[in-house]
Amino acid sequence: MEEVHWADVIAEDLLKRGRKHRIATGITPSGHIHVGNLREMLTADAVRRALIDKGGEAELIYIADTFDPLRKRYPFLPEEYERYVGMPLSEIPDPEGCHDNYAEHFLEPFLESLEILEIPVIVKMADEMYKKGEYEEVIRISLQRRDEIAKIIEEVTGRKLEEDWFPFMPLCEECGRINSAKVTGFDDKWIYYRCQCGHEGKASYRGGGKLTWRVDWAARWKILGITCEPFGKDHAAAGGSYDTGKRLAKEIFGIDPPYPIPYEWINLKGVGAMSSSKGIVIPVREFIEVLPPEIVRYIIIRVKPKKHIDFDPANLLELVDEFEEGLRKKDRAVELSMVGNVEYSDVPFRHLVVVGQIAKWDLEKVLEILKRTGYEIDERVRRDVERRLKYAKNWLEKFAPDKIKFEIAESVNPSIFDEKEREFLSKFAEKLREDMKPEEIHNLVYDVAKEVGIKPAKGFQAIYKAILGKNYGPRAGYFIKMLGIDWVKKRFIDVCS
Ligand SMILES: [Zn+2]
Ligand SMILES: [Zn+2]
Repeated sequence: MEEVHWADVIAEDLLKRGRKHRIATGITPSGHIHVGNLREMLTADAVRRALIDKGGEAELIYIADTFDPLRKRYPFLPEEYERYVGMPLSEIPDPEGCHDNYAEHFLEPFLESLEILEIPVIVKMADEMYKKGEYEEVIRISLQRRDEIAKIIEEVTGRKLEEDWFPFMPLCEECGRINSAKVTGFDDKWIYYRCQCGHEGKASYRGGGKLTWRVDWAARWKILGITCEPFGKDHAAAGGSYDTGKRLAKEIFGIDPPYPIPYEWINLKGVGAMSSSKGIVIPVREFIEVLPPEIVRYIIIRVKPKKHIDFDPANLLELVDEFEEGLRKKDRAVELSMVGNVEYSDVPFRHLVVVGQIAKWDLEKVLEILKRTGYEIDERVRRDVERRLKYAKNWLEKFAPDKIKFEIAESVNPSIFDEKEREFLSKFAEKLREDMKPEEIHNLVYDVAKEVGIKPAKGFQAIYKAILGKNYGPRAGYFIKMLGIDWVKKRFIDVCS
């Protein structure tokens, strides 16, 4: 029996708790939001879809941690950004000057990507939530119950907190940093602080600072009514932030903690572990220019959250084969990955990569070749081919290994063939017939090689040399069919004369 998809398993669990769900996701827009971050979004979205499929109600909340401080000057930032370290991302200028602030500069392309990937999110900016007073109540609770909170954190983490610790980071009105001031006291109206810059001041409950990370996380579950949340495995470790969050939720904020979905990292081969602080990342926005959204979804949704994903963009074709196969079999992971308005024809992506190169990416020529190789071309096929051909081209240019790239040689020097190869090519041309199917053409290579007395590998090589001027190329049967029997015959006769 087929295994139930992980998203369906989680959805069933969630439905036992209730019919309506709010799934939270959160990413700090401190730099380009990269493919690794997509796991959080797609894990959440797969569960959202599964819940809806089962008759539940579900929505995705995306909290952008715009009120977090800039932790350091990242390699992609100019030197003068040194002075913004410690300031909230929402209060720092856009390094490229095109958006209202730093956070929005990195958020906008990411939110665009979510739209293309058909992940519907309700976006909450943390700085706005604080400034509008959505956190006011939980900040009061957190300050008043500081001792209990400190005790929970100490018990769970085994770490000792300082005597004067408070779960609140005041935003210093003098130096603008949100990680440098200490709370010295509070009353109904104000939170008093002393900053490392020397300033002493008072902060408002509305935007005058933020809760420390572990407390903030549990607090937002309460504010937003979160019932489920995927998060990176680091938060799930024993003594990690989910463990404290669980207790803070129950003991301080009086709520049930959300259903946790810890997930493993994604490794893009050749790109290193995906972490935005290291500088070498592929921004999501760039990635989805190269791969179709349903394939990007599938890369993540096909794998259980707890399993590590190693993905090599150069080996995309195997994955797409699997996707197309799943499409025919109505595989659940494929279903959860599909995006609306997209209808697949039965032209494999693998073919488009080859045909596109033969046709130099001209759509009409591509369709002509496909017709010649037995595909029926109607409006639907045309639309599909046009859409996926673009991706095939982008993928080939950006990620494909060289062995997949080729160019038809304008002409080939006959002197590169030995006697046997020439004999093979001319016999092969003789026997090649217009009505042959790719498989028959493939078998013909073996037959003719045997007849001439050479190894089949040498026969294939002769074919590629005659067409491409090199020893290897795409699968010969399809390739010859795509190039056109007439053209191939003529080419083989030419090089033998
Ligand atoms: Zn910008
Ligand atoms: Zn200060």
